[in-house]
Amino acid sequence: FERTDHPLLEGLNEPQRAAVTHAGPPLLVVAGAGSGKTRVLTRRIAWLINERKAHPGSILAITFTNKAAAEMKERVEELVGKRARIMWVSTFHSACVRILRKEIDRVGFKSNFSIYDAADSKRLMTLVLRDLELDPKRYQPNAVLNWVSDQKNELRDAEDAAKEARNSFEEAYAKAFSAYQRRLREANALDFDDLIMTTVHLLQAFPDVRENYRRRFRHVLVDEYQDTNHAQYSLIQQLCGQSFEIGTDVEEPGAESAERVGPSELMVVGDADQSIYAFRGADIRNILDFEQDFPDATTILLEQNYRSTQTILSAANSVIGNNRGRKPKRLWTDAGEGERIIGYVSDDEHDEARFVSEEIDKLTDDAGVRPADVAVFYRTNAQSRVFEEVFIRTGQPYKVVGGVRFYERKEVRDALAYLRMLVNTADEISLRRVLNTPKRGIGERAEACIAALADRDRITFWEALTRAAEAPGLATRSLKNIEAFVAMVQELQSMVEADERPDVILESVLERSGYLVELEASDDPQDGTRVENLAELVAVAREFAEDPQPGPSADPAEVEAGTVAVGLGDFLERVALVADADQIPDSPDGDDSGVVTLMTLHTAKGLEFPVVFLTGLEDGVFPHQRSLGDQPELEEERRLAYVGLTRAQQRLYVSRALVRSAWGAPSHNPASRFLDELPVDLVDWRRTAAEQTRWGRADLTGGSTRLGTPTDAGRRNFSSAALRADAASKAKPAREIPSLAPGDRVVHDSFGMGTVVAVEGVAEKSVASIDFGSEGVKRLLLRYAPVEKL
Ligand code: ATP
Ligand code: MG
Repeated sequence: FERTDHPLLEGLNEPQRAAVTHAGPPLLVVAGAGSGKTRVLTRRIAWLINERKAHPGSILAITFTNKAAAEMKERVEELVGKRARIMWVSTFHSACVRILRKEIDRVGFKSNFSIYDAADSKRLMTLVLRDLELDPKRYQPNAVLNWVSDQKNELRDAEDAAKEARNSFEEAYAKAFSAYQRRLREANALDFDDLIMTTVHLLQAFPDVRENYRRRFRHVLVDEYQDTNHAQYSLIQQLCGQSFEIGTDVEEPGAESAERVGPSELMVVGDADQSIYAFRGADIRNILDFEQDFPDATTILLEQNYRSTQTILSAANSVIGNNRGRKPKRLWTDAGEGERIIGYVSDDEHDEARFVSEEIDKLTDDAGVRPADVAVFYRTNAQSRVFEEVFIRTGQPYKVVGGVRFYERKEVRDALAYLRMLVNTADEISLRRVLNTPKRGIGERAEACIAALADRDRITFWEALTRAAEAPGLATRSLKNIEAFVAMVQELQSMVEADERPDVILESVLERSGYLVELEASDDPQDGTRVENLAELVAVAREFAEDPQPGPSADPAEVEAGTVAVGLGDFLERVALVADADQIPDSPDGDDSGVVTLMTLHTAKGLEFPVVFLTGLEDGVFPHQRSLGDQPELEEERRLAYVGLTRAQQRLYVSRALVRSAWGAPSHNPASRFLDELPVDLVDWRRTAAEQTRWGRADLTGGSTRLGTPTDAGRRNFSSAALRADAASKAKPAREIPSLAPGDRVVHDSFGMGTVVAVEGVAEKSVASIDFGSEGVKRLLLRYAPVEKL
């Protein structure tokens, strides 16, 4: 056939076509940002269905967010029609939930399991640490959870972790891990990392289940492959059944009985330069080693960028070129030079936000830009606040993606906890959360009596509540209150059993629990907002009920066949799996065309905007403080910069503030080194450090006149270097520098425990090499690194 004439190959270049039409061995598409990886993946799905006659149900595509999944699905449907609907396009987590809802009984959970998010996990871990009587100063829930998460991302369970513990600290962590898992199991709940790990373990342990999915998914496609961690990688292995797994995949006795099928076709696309989730265990080696892992793999490179102007591309290439040990790429565009990058050095963060707001005004007035074309990026969520303040003042509609999210608000979490425990009474965390919320006279003592009864009789907390009369030491008044609570819950449960709509159940919960009444009676203005948020949640549930969409884990084939019930469980699942990036404005042509998008750089992955403001480019902000003394972390920050820069299609702004308030005190931050890495001639500095007004040169440079003339871009590099040297002596260390010697045990906020291997330099300049076990050996500048001597 005429390849070039085929409509599904239209608007693709030669290597893109090759990737779409490739058949057979595993395919890796590696390419820089904006080279059409996602487009190719989408077209390939359409191609598989239309030309290779693949059944849509035999396709599994993995995307980074639920939102990206929905878009991809929609696009494929446009290309090949409605029958595409039954394919699985989802995130790793959603795909796993979908598998687990069907199969999890094999590993002793019930299919109505709860999904614990970060806050639930923290609550549970706090309880665990308290039970184990571990010193809360030494063992912080988040630190332990990070460690546990790392273990799970490496597919190590509590037993493995205990075996590998090399000291008393790790033994304690492993103990907490084990107790935490036990309580999750008792609560019939899984945390986020469990979703993946449990699925992998299940597929490994049950050959018939594995074969079943292998037979089903003949095509597996993964976007953003550079951000997969080991557990996700193993999941792909299990699902595809590639030959390389021999030796890693130990067959259980009886496995012979399960009929084996040949490997599925695998396509992964990614860009090692955009790997930004190492802190979640993402392993860049998954992409670098692809050819080794899959010896017969085909690799296709895409080199033409279709997103950005040459200026933007050159800037991004120049910055990422400073990372070591990467494969250089030849990314080019024929989009033309385009506008120069605009730089701005502001007095402080308010001035920076004002600048951004004024530029947006100008662009929308004079340059035909719509607010929806504009995105403002920053390194950490907290930086959004100042932009929000300015936008509110100027009346610029905006949308913050991420941050303190709707579903993280207390009242929303309370309401969802009610719903969750109605569906799964074993969910102790949710149950305890609502037990005395609003206050109904079931105090801590009463709760402890119930917990003791549950322990004594080895029953769930809920069962103990229903048998409260047997609880030793329970006050009569508390007993009455508990009985009333149990009666209310049972009544609400009968609504769930009768398959009432989620919004109807939610409204009943809010009324009968007294939750709403209490808020409405309050004269705290915040409680007014809470009522509004709950109204919003009811609206979300109603929308869900009226346009019944099964949860992300429902099998599309069953949905199509109308055999899947859409109930409260589906609603909860949908809510549980909403990721940050899922809150991006929907259609740029719809109601949102007047809305500017604010988001962190991490959330920006995969997206594109005509105009991008990259803000807060200061050493200590971006790159993040934590990364300053650590080469691998710094390189990850640089990849994040690369992601940010390459989101821009036509116009790019970079800005920094000379002074930024941090924890209430002003901090003088030097220019980000990433600014120095931009080619000088590409940036048009609207305002330089030398021109800034409020703080005066002397304040920053000790009266130095080395700053150069205001418009002298060439010397700007010099001046920011001078500023950096200066700031090195001014920036306040967050706390005292620990004095360390080889052999000392330390604990680090994110790496956990480690042993000092070597120390160089003294005082402010001391750098320690610390062995963090599975995290590897890190060289840390002690002034900045959040380490504490034990
Ligand atoms: P990222 O690395 O940021 O995820 P990507 O490689 O996935 O980027 P896409 O988002 O697929 O890139 O494509 C970037 C832009 O280029 C999109 O707007 C896409 O529609 C467009 N594009 C891709 N290939 C072509 C092509 N051959 N002709 C015209 N436009 C294209
Ligand atoms: Mg992409």
